[in-house]
Amino acid sequence: MLQGEENLKLLTEPKKIVITTHHKPDGDALGSSLGLYHWLKKKNHEVSVVVSSDFPTFLDWLPGRDVVISYPENPEKCKQLLDEAEIIFCLDYSALSRTNILEEYICAASGQKWMIDHHLDPEDFAQLTYWDSNAAATAQLIYTFIVDILGGKELIDANIATCLYAGIMTDTGSFRFRSTTSAVHYIIANLIEAGARNWEIHEQIYNSSTERRLKFLGYCLLNCLEVIPEYNTALFSISKDDLAQFEISTGDTEGLVNYALSVKGIRLAALIVDRTELIKLSLRSIGDIPCNEICKKYFNGGGHLNASGGSSSEKLATVVNTFKSILPEYKELLTT
Ligand code: 5GP
Ligand code: MN
Repeated sequence: MLQGEENLKLLTEPKKIVITTHHKPDGDALGSSLGLYHWLKKKNHEVSVVVSSDFPTFLDWLPGRDVVISYPENPEKCKQLLDEAEIIFCLDYSALSRTNILEEYICAASGQKWMIDHHLDPEDFAQLTYWDSNAAATAQLIYTFIVDILGGKELIDANIATCLYAGIMTDTGSFRFRSTTSAVHYIIANLIEAGARNWEIHEQIYNSSTERRLKFLGYCLLNCLEVIPEYNTALFSISKDDLAQFEISTGDTEGLVNYALSVKGIRLAALIVDRTELIKLSLRSIGDIPCNEICKKYFNGGGHLNASGGSSSEKLATVVNTFKSILPEYKELLTT
């Protein structure tokens, strides 16, 4: 769905553009942002990428990573760029609160907001919206935005293709989730043709663990995993001490929740982690079990049907109990 198409004409002249994405950017958030960044630069716009926090080190190799400005490192620059922007792209989020500390500056900015996203229940804050909850990744939407809407396929080079490939690959669990349609594979074929070196991207993202991180995985599998067979549910609950013991930082828990889902018969998996500020939850499900509804209703969050997140300011044990107490409500979906 494209709304506010008439505003696309702004791009015919060079503009001051800021690209924003959600707090703690993941592969899709950063891949989309940098893919679009490279393309807009080729069209002679003045472009910046601004984020509200750090992001996983396994994304450090992405082409253009060095242009990303993070609010904690340079708050004044971020504020100034948002204030002066004529267009602010809002990528991989459709609720302004997901930008954390940047929310108030994006709200206050006079530039147009252009949202490109695939999450459910988008807020109505943008002058241009390109949104599709069936898209596998925002990077997929960036591709079709560039190719189908802006007619800019010929400018897609190896850097752009690499960033977009990384975004689609990470949001589809390496092309295995239900969202991985034939259209996704066509786009992937085009990205490889444009220069994305698929084997290198997989290597960079999935084979870049530290020894410490791998041992943390072993520790969690042994000590933090609980399987609840009567509800076909499995969860990891990870304390502050566990994180400290293995010096775990942003991105190190990425993918962990999928191990809980990989137990035969498990239909709902949770990763519940005691982070410094809050308890953070990641839910994954198969079939019609609505992770997003659970996160929205009980954990102040949201996301997609089969992959959602949320948070809580309660204690870890309380959050774990709350999660378990919800299961009877979903018993039918979980067990039939
Ligand atoms: P993850 O579990 O990987 O952090 O997130 C899974 C999905 O849920 C992603 O699409 C992410 O954008 C969404 N998500 C994660 N945390 C939150 C949150 O706190 N609020 C909302 N609305 N969505 C979230
Ligand atoms: Mn995404």
